[in-house]
Amino acid sequence: MKLAFWRSSTKEEQASITAAAAPSAGGIIQALRRSLSPEPDWDALEEALIRSDTGTATARAIITRAKEIRDGTGRDRLRTALIELMREEAIELASDESGAQVILLVGVNGAGKTTSAAKLAARAKGAGEHPLLVAADTFRAAAIEQLRLLASREGVPIIEGRQGGDPSAAIHDALTAAAARDLAPVIIDTAGRMQTKSGLMEELSKMRRVIGKLAPGVGVEVLLVLDATAGQNGLAQASGFNRAAGVDGVILTKLDAGARGGVALSVRRELALPVRWVGVGERGADLLPFDVDAYVDGLLGEEVS
Ligand code: GDP
Ligand code: MG
Repeated sequence: MKLAFWRSSTKEEQASITAAAAPSAGGIIQALRRSLSPEPDWDALEEALIRSDTGTATARAIITRAKEIRDGTGRDRLRTALIELMREEAIELASDESGAQVILLVGVNGAGKTTSAAKLAARAKGAGEHPLLVAADTFRAAAIEQLRLLASREGVPIIEGRQGGDPSAAIHDALTAAAARDLAPVIIDTAGRMQTKSGLMEELSKMRRVIGKLAPGVGVEVLLVLDATAGQNGLAQASGFNRAAGVDGVILTKLDAGARGGVALSVRRELALPVRWVGVGERGADLLPFDVDAYVDGLLGEEVS
């Protein structure tokens, strides 16, 4: 199955991903330049990976793999090891006959869920889809208002939950409306929550069940929104969300805001989750489909001959 058009990146967007990964990876690039021949200084490269927020276990695995590869320059070998680590099948979503899809965004406060929801909707709309936004962050009136404003700016319809109400009720209304009006994808914003709060995790499980019941056979994607500037600390959040809602992939936000690029490598290996989207700024167009090759090019810098 081919990627829906709005989910694949253009050449320009790939260049933006390379650029976003680059500044964070100076250490890796310098270590590569210093260790061109005859055998790269693998210890220095491992350290540089760790300094770029790659977890130690992941950094070690990458270097072990790169050493096994016999052909090519140090950069080639590291590149191959990184791409092997990050590579995954192109996203394949089950979809029913109407092509409906449901995307549920989960994560802690401030990670970038609400703005990412709007960015996804804008992108889908721009590619000719008919998205529906759902304000299921019913904790705070301000959260509903924030998404309402973004939806109106993007010209995307929205279903709003009632403040203080059950977010699953908003999801129920939204899925009913989406079926009646033939809208897809349905993009659901939820309240920020800590993975350690069991009541709130149960609420997420319920949302997931409601979607499964109301839209059986429809492709559902649960995306964990992670702030890349939180580095390794962010990774600890994943398991709680995964248990509660079954996370399918990650939106890594704020790569432009001082994040160190190795965190995407850790997400892939330590969480075994694909990075689906990366946030590279605050504008509506600053959420890009993740591209492995472009990202690795940014981490490793230009080939030096
Ligand atoms: P939520 O609490 O998870 O819903 O987070 P919000 O979507 O409200 O975002 C919190 C802040 O992070 C807002 O000021 C966003 O503009 C900002 N933000 C989100 N994604 C990015 C990104 O990729 N880059 C930058 N620089 N800021 C971002
Ligand atoms: Mg929010």
